[in-house]
Amino acid sequence: MLVKTDESLLIAANCWLSKFERVLSSSECASITLLFNIDCHWRDLLAFTWQITTVSGIEKIQKALEIYSKTAKPSGFIVDVLRTPPRRVTRAGVEVIEAIFCFKTAFGPASGVLRLLSESADKDSPKAWTLATTLNEINGFEEPLGKKRPKGEAYSRDFCGPNWLDQRSSAIAYADREPAVIVVGGGQAGLSIAARLRQLSVDTLIVDREERVGDNWRNRYHRLTLHNQVHVNHLPYIPFPPNWPAYIPKDKIAGWFEAYVESMELNYWTNTEFLGGTYDEKNERWSVTLNQTNGLTREMHPRHVVMATGVSGIPNLPEIPGLENFGGKIIHSSEYQNGKDWKNSDVLIIGSGNSGHDIAQDLYSNNANVTLVQRSPTTIIEIEPSAQLPYALYDEGPTLDDCDLISVSTPFEMLKKSHQLITEQAKILDEKLLRELSHMGFKIDFGDEGTGWQFKYLQRGGGYYFNVGCSDLIVEGKVKLIQFSEIDGFFNEGANIKNGSILKSDLVVLATGFKGQEYLVRELFGHRIAKKVGPIWGFDDESQELRNMWVRTKQAGLWFIAGSFAQCRIFSKFLGLQIKACESGIIPLIPSNNFL
Ligand SMILES: Cc1cc2nc3c(=O)[nH]c(=O)nc-3n(C[C@H](O)[C@H](O)[C@H](O)COP(=O)(O)OP(=O)(O)OC[C@H]3O[C@@H](n4cnc5c(N)ncnc54)[C@H](O)[C@@H]3O)c2cc1C
Repeated sequence: MLVKTDESLLIAANCWLSKFERVLSSSECASITLLFNIDCHWRDLLAFTWQITTVSGIEKIQKALEIYSKTAKPSGFIVDVLRTPPRRVTRAGVEVIEAIFCFKTAFGPASGVLRLLSESADKDSPKAWTLATTLNEINGFEEPLGKKRPKGEAYSRDFCGPNWLDQRSSAIAYADREPAVIVVGGGQAGLSIAARLRQLSVDTLIVDREERVGDNWRNRYHRLTLHNQVHVNHLPYIPFPPNWPAYIPKDKIAGWFEAYVESMELNYWTNTEFLGGTYDEKNERWSVTLNQTNGLTREMHPRHVVMATGVSGIPNLPEIPGLENFGGKIIHSSEYQNGKDWKNSDVLIIGSGNSGHDIAQDLYSNNANVTLVQRSPTTIIEIEPSAQLPYALYDEGPTLDDCDLISVSTPFEMLKKSHQLITEQAKILDEKLLRELSHMGFKIDFGDEGTGWQFKYLQRGGGYYFNVGCSDLIVEGKVKLIQFSEIDGFFNEGANIKNGSILKSDLVVLATGFKGQEYLVRELFGHRIAKKVGPIWGFDDESQELRNMWVRTKQAGLWFIAGSFAQCRIFSKFLGLQIKACESGIIPLIPSNNFL
């Protein structure tokens, strides 16, 4: 929440930064203890460590800074006058002075966010609660943007030579060359990283098994619109037009993806399934097999494979005792298309997350008789205003770039606290709905330690529903609800209920989520590589970051990108910089084992 801007805040922030720089450069990192609060966190995104990692506590921060300053050689710390000025804000319930600063390292220009505790005992020398440092660009590999844009002469001076279209067609064909990077999956994750890599002159090919760019959204259920608002969801480089609806419909997003591929000049092969690959350690290259629907199989040898396959890779199909006795149709939610096919039918939906609810609502609107089967307590949030609370920062006024920087400057502990507060706030806002749902027998929870839906998403990718109307249908009894524990088994025409009644059904939808990406890795690259890489997504205790996301993994040349539109926009930048740094020999393909 924006409170006020003040010249004194600029002085306080610059004063802290110059002391910090003095300490770093005088190899007296011990004095760092005077600059940080006892409870303190430093999140580094490549600037010092070439990793995405968070360090907590003065001693650990001191040790890490000592180690990494030697190679990063940071200097020139100063509040960035071209960005949002230092402000007094409340973050995770704490009043702070928040300042965006810039500095340089041996690798390139960098930015950061400093949060000083404005209520510290020593008001003249406030101490830091959080510090974030992020690498912006790599020296010598600056992006050709704005004034540095390409001149275009190459396409126009030589009237006989290939024009722009000829060059694009040849770039996409890969007839006589290999891409440096293959991105598997052309959803928002794939597009974001491919756009970043193109800007960094890293030859990149996206492959997607779907027929048309955007089909990952187009083929989802008929009534889908995005769940958070347009201004949070921009892709890198090209924001959505200002007249777009707050909640973008799926086909509009799909069309935008096609336009984006064209505008950003991305090399994208549709109808191409990535079947897997092996890694040649000696030559540091993959051999990967691509299967095209025209019957051709192609082997390629990229140096990097970026998995952008989303969480929807492998459906999770749990053992449901007795379901084999059911004679009707059984589908996973990923196979569900349209309620029109099930008009006036009886449908059981097993699973009460977003997919289960959305499918229930779609079927109800098509006059189906729907029963939602709840397997475990679910977090319910009204789409407005509650589900939008985590994005309040994006309404504070700073530019998108500043909001993204402030957003990544949030260390794990602060993020956790802030989601606990947001969850409490949402509980109050949604009190009536939650009470009425409980009254209907719906089991509600608020996530581990009350951290709500965002942490559920970050830890396990589901377990919550944004109410766009289905909860109201449950309250009104229009979509029926039973607990999974009430089911006694299945018979040819439906389910037996423990109270002796039966629930007839023509269709059972398993809205039971998806298996983690590690399953897909095992399928595509084999057990050895899957074991080496380990779990993907969910927080790592030591680094306090999502596991294997947007960073080098223990398998050389294998990378992962996933997440919301905002996460893809923000973290594709850091992933792109790391791949470029590997390509340029600045960093090795595998990070050293020990961070500290
Ligand atoms: C109803 C709903 C609303 C949502 N609202 C929002 C929102 O408002 N904001 C937000 O940020 N997110 C939202 N999401 C969530 C999230 O953004 C999406 O799930 C998103 O699709 C994830 O993007 P992705 O690029 O990681 O993966 P996906 O979109 O799943 O794309 C993966 C692609 O990989 C391809 N692929 C997979 N395996 C292979 C292979 N072996 N070979 C070739 N291609 C392959 C697939 O064909 C697919 O095109 C919403 C989701 C739903 C269902």
